[in-house]
Amino acid sequence: MDSKSGSGTSDQGEPSKREVGMGKVGKRKGSARSETGREPAYTVGLDIGGTKILGALLDPEGEVVGTVRRSTVHGADGLVAGAVQAVRDVVASVGVDLADLAGVGLGIPGIVDHRCGTVKHAVNLGVHDDELPLAELLSAELGGVPVVVENDLNVAAVGAAHVLERAGGERDHEDLAFLALGTGLASGLVLDGQLRRGVSGAAGEIGHIPVDPLGPECTCGQRGCLERFASGKALEAAWPSRHGKPSPVELFEAARAGDQEAIVVKDRFADATASAVRLLVLTTDVRHVVLGGGVAQLGTELLDAVQDALRKQAKASPFLGSLKLAERVRLAPTHVPVAAVGAAVLGRRS
Ligand SMILES: [Zn+2]
Repeated sequence: MDSKSGSGTSDQGEPSKREVGMGKVGKRKGSARSETGREPAYTVGLDIGGTKILGALLDPEGEVVGTVRRSTVHGADGLVAGAVQAVRDVVASVGVDLADLAGVGLGIPGIVDHRCGTVKHAVNLGVHDDELPLAELLSAELGGVPVVVENDLNVAAVGAAHVLERAGGERDHEDLAFLALGTGLASGLVLDGQLRRGVSGAAGEIGHIPVDPLGPECTCGQRGCLERFASGKALEAAWPSRHGKPSPVELFEAARAGDQEAIVVKDRFADATASAVRLLVLTTDVRHVVLGGGVAQLGTELLDAVQDALRKQAKASPFLGSLKLAERVRLAPTHVPVAAVGAAVLGRRS
């Protein structure tokens, strides 16, 4: 299952308190002034993955002014130490003082309780059953800077919306799905400018929607889940890597070279991914579906294949055609670490 799977946080309480606005945030009222006399307004975001930590520093206007990359050290102690060092490194790289930070946001795979700042079952990071109070531990190490912790797909969605907003996309960035084609398949949702987590943190968990009742068994216990057809794991099973390159790269290369079997597998994958896009749009009517995750590193070749599949599906249905699905799909920005940027945006409201 993908990182968001089973993220049954203990969310309770009023929805308005769980949701996070996407609008520009002005200077925080009541923030402690730093030793320099300025109101702290920079924020750092970290995207903590199984192999690396990516960090981004946002200035008071929301511009990315620094980035950092470190290897992940597994286990609770290593995780905290690595995150602290990443924050210190990225602020030092642009001459900002820790006291100038208004907040730090973390995006992490696993079961995240964003209200308590805890994480558990982050198996890729060596965090297992015990709940790790990550926000509290990190804040203590950083001199009391407020820290928020969020699911990795949610920060990616917020980051993609922020980058689109900075690019001048008027207000249409306020409805967006980030579709992560990673090992598994899942999405993060920004709806009406609000991050949508759902009552149990499972919003956007589309990889486990069964699409074929007779399909293969899924790790979640169901059969024929969409993830079994549209994910890195599905591609690896259908076209195992033979030449040392990632399976998606080898598949697309073989298809380009005219291998008929590869073309069939590629088309089937594009169709399944197009179905995921269609599902997201028909459920939420988002303006943008942003393709991210490891498989999206294929770049425009993937985008073209998915858009072709969407256009084919639309040909059979004037209804689908009217929704212009192909025009809503785009690749995740690659010029900035988008999930880390989203974490930094959420850090502004810590
Ligand atoms: Zn499943």
